[in-house]
Amino acid sequence: MATKFSEEKLAEAPLVKEWPAVDLERIARGVRLILEGIGEDPDRAGLQETPRRVAEMFVELTAGMREDPRQHVIPLPGEKHDEMVIVRDITIASMCEHHLAPFVGKCHIAYIPKGGRIVGLSKLARLAETFARRLQLQERLTSEIADILFEALKPVGVMVVIEAEHTCMTLRGVKKAGAVTVTSAVLGGFRTDPRTRAEAMALIKGNA
Ligand SMILES: [Zn+2]
Repeated sequence: MATKFSEEKLAEAPLVKEWPAVDLERIARGVRLILEGIGEDPDRAGLQETPRRVAEMFVELTAGMREDPRQHVIPLPGEKHDEMVIVRDITIASMCEHHLAPFVGKCHIAYIPKGGRIVGLSKLARLAETFARRLQLQERLTSEIADILFEALKPVGVMVVIEAEHTCMTLRGVKKAGAVTVTSAVLGGFRTDPRTRAEAMALIKGNA
């Protein structure tokens, strides 16, 4: 009945797909093809270790695919806090799924707890990282963080704002160095009450 058990586990864990094991060799072969494709000699001294290094980097940058984000949203027992919680300037490094190019920036998370359901502050940073370390779109990354918090903590409201610089925009194509993309996901009370939303925004910008 081992198969049945793993099927059940899978059904309970829709956020972590059962990805095949990471194949470093295969990634390295692909990187070697890129080097050949641009007219480089993958065997010259400076490039010999590059396919292996890039493969290891890809594994690290996608580590969140193999982590269950729900481990970071388990409410702390015995808490009573029901005032707004904001963690701002969480550094994120993710990879755009359209170009496999990094985008880096800051994530700000605000929520108003209900029934004392809060999580440790460091868990919010770990949560952002688990979703960032996947092939992403900034819009989806923003909603995924907001949605799981809303679902797990059942708070009054959740707001997530991400500001990021996309190297696929700043290093190529339109080449707008320094252009920052801002996305937000606003749920519950933050959506219905403009005053609360404005208060959170002011705190995120650090001028409250
Ligand atoms: Zn891109």
